[in-house]
Amino acid sequence: MIAYPKPLTLYEELIAAGVVLSLNCNGTLKIDAPSGYLTPELVRRVREHKQELLRLLKCDKCGSAEFHDVAIHNGRSTRRDCAICRRTAGFPCWKPEQKGN
Ligand SMILES: [Zn+2]
Repeated sequence: MIAYPKPLTLYEELIAAGVVLSLNCNGTLKIDAPSGYLTPELVRRVREHKQELLRLLKCDKCGSAEFHDVAIHNGRSTRRDCAICRRTAGFPCWKPEQKGN
């Protein structure tokens, strides 16, 4: 009997391929993939499993899956930090201009 390897989850598949998943401060998924790796089919699968992938993201320093937003630049942008070790987990992004009502 041949023991087939357990099918990898999309997350494991991406990590094994050298893809770096991280979180943007606005809660979106940032994907750094080796050039040519992200095929349209893979992009479709990532979109399909986006919520699942976001839940699997962990701090690369302490392994915590808890993050919180930190206001920077006098509150004009936010950064996402690990809630445990404070490592920055995402790139800051500028808040869109607030439109007065
Ligand atoms: Zn951490």
